[in-house]
Amino acid sequence: MNPYTNLQTFFKTLNSCNTIEGIESAIKNLVHRDIRLHIFDESLGDTDNEFLNSIHENLELFQSFIDGNPIFINNKTLYPILLKEQLIGCLESDKCDDNEINNLAIAVLVIALKIDNIRLSGTINKSLEFHNAMKNIAKIIETQYELNYILPIIGEILDTFIENHLIYIFLKTNGKMKLMWPSTCLDKAIPKKISQLINTKEVTYNKNKKVAFFPLLSENTNIGFIVTKSTDGEISSQEVYHLQQLAKQTATTITRAKVYAEILKYATLDALTGFYNRRQLDERVKQEVSHAKRKKSALCAIMVDIDFFKSVNDTYGHTAGDLVLKTIAKIMRGQLREYDIAARYGGEEFMILLPYTSIKEAILVAERLRKSVKNKIIDIEKVNTKNDTKNINVTISVGLCEYKCEYSAEQFIMNTDKALYTAKETGRNRIIVYKGE
Ligand code: GH3
Ligand code: MG
Ligand code: MG
Repeated sequence: MNPYTNLQTFFKTLNSCNTIEGIESAIKNLVHRDIRLHIFDESLGDTDNEFLNSIHENLELFQSFIDGNPIFINNKTLYPILLKEQLIGCLESDKCDDNEINNLAIAVLVIALKIDNIRLSGTINKSLEFHNAMKNIAKIIETQYELNYILPIIGEILDTFIENHLIYIFLKTNGKMKLMWPSTCLDKAIPKKISQLINTKEVTYNKNKKVAFFPLLSENTNIGFIVTKSTDGEISSQEVYHLQQLAKQTATTITRAKVYAEILKYATLDALTGFYNRRQLDERVKQEVSHAKRKKSALCAIMVDIDFFKSVNDTYGHTAGDLVLKTIAKIMRGQLREYDIAARYGGEEFMILLPYTSIKEAILVAERLRKSVKNKIIDIEKVNTKNDTKNINVTISVGLCEYKCEYSAEQFIMNTDKALYTAKETGRNRIIVYKGE
């Protein structure tokens, strides 16, 4: 075959690829013999060190090789691939004729550029992912401030970003480092080591550099650790750099969440839903109860809990979960009168107080809430981080209780909660009225 045709086919195949495997299949067009690509660049996978060392043995030959000349050892032709005068790989083939050598000389030039391209796009992708991870950790704080909720989200972000590593998050609680995410750590050496590192402010590694401990620092105090355990080789310097930055971001987010939680104790509204927060609800229940008692007026309470909400988070991501919460709060608000009191009782639970409302009317309200939530198609396309599902709908379970003058405020809430529990137990997506003990 015409060597020129070979080169043309090689160019065509090379052009359309953007992986090392792509280059490997393109070079098959260059010569009619066995040909192999060796890469001496850690960022593109395992360096072919053994092979490199074998060439290194003959210094004179090696010098000529890194000057850009083909060398012949053991009946093989080796053609160096140089980029900016650095040896980044070589082509190895059975001994070639002159035409083929010419082809290889041209091929290595373009291969070098291709490798550089692949390396760059890998770096750019990784750095995009890194910035996204940083941004997402910073963003959590916009809607969340409970550490029990925030830490799993951070854990998952880190887990997705750092491949081939198990991630653990420890936080200092009552003077001890406690595992916060995930729920267990099978490697008992990790918590043991952590307890020795409790005040360490530097990144620390275990002996084989497969486990790394990144301190979480807040105002120069160690508030916890991110621990990574490699399931592959030792941790790379780039991973260390990224994790150091991510640990800083995590520490900032945790510190801010603590401050927010403190401040929000004195706020009245829940940030995500715009409903009253739990603290405000407790106040309002007391007020309404004492009002109903004094005036002998009707008062009912409704407790709402979204059904299988955990699986919404698990299946579509927590941002989608947040949107569902927000949407449902909005739908419910639309079904209530202005003086009804709507509060976020906990994660995905809401409580509504209906002053001047008999149980008969309250049942109608509850039924309206249940139906309008069930019928609402929620568009999660923009926030679904896990799959292609665009629309979902969820249902709610509802507990109802009519105030009786012998109830304390706490009993009133508790009874409503019991009714909700029965609604869950008996199949969900339904309303149950508290009927007494
Ligand atoms: P059930 O039908 O029994 O109520 O099941 P469930 O999955 O709804 O109940 P579970 O209590 O197991 O899960 C509630 C979930 O709500 C777990 C928690 O991660 C999630 N959650 C709590 N607060 C928030 C929040 O602010 N945003 C999001 N996205 N999820 C939250
Ligand atoms: Mg629920
Ligand atoms: Mg719940």
